[in-house]
Amino acid sequence: MSGKSTNKTDAVMRLLTGKKTSVKKNPILDSGFKEENITSRTPPKNDGTEIDIAGELVSEFLPQVLERFNCCKCPVCYAEAMSDALAKAPTLKIRINNKDDLRQAEAIKAKSRREILTILIRLAIKRRRLKKHEKA
Ligand SMILES: [Zn+2]
Repeated sequence: MSGKSTNKTDAVMRLLTGKKTSVKKNPILDSGFKEENITSRTPPKNDGTEIDIAGELVSEFLPQVLERFNCCKCPVCYAEAMSDALAKAPTLKIRINNKDDLRQAEAIKAKSRREILTILIRLAIKRRRLKKHEKA
């Protein structure tokens, strides 16, 4: 590379024009941009994100169900109820790789609502006999 002579030319040009002549394309930025395009096209190494549909439904409904059946919701009882519910709930895990997977997950979630609610209500009916720890 003839870097030295280019620099000299630039300096001379600056003297002559009073402007900076080095407003040229930056090859480093350009290649970085290309590289970024390529990596964004390659699929991620892991197989998408796994979501736990049963777990999502349980955490969505458990507080309401415990409230409605007047069960203790102190942290200890809540954690106990949560782990009981998750043990009884079916395993509904799905990997999300694209929009179709997401739609499928939403469909499973909608279908499983009633089943999960039934599990939670049975659990709450049992738990409402337990002593309440929190202040009313
Ligand atoms: Zn409690």
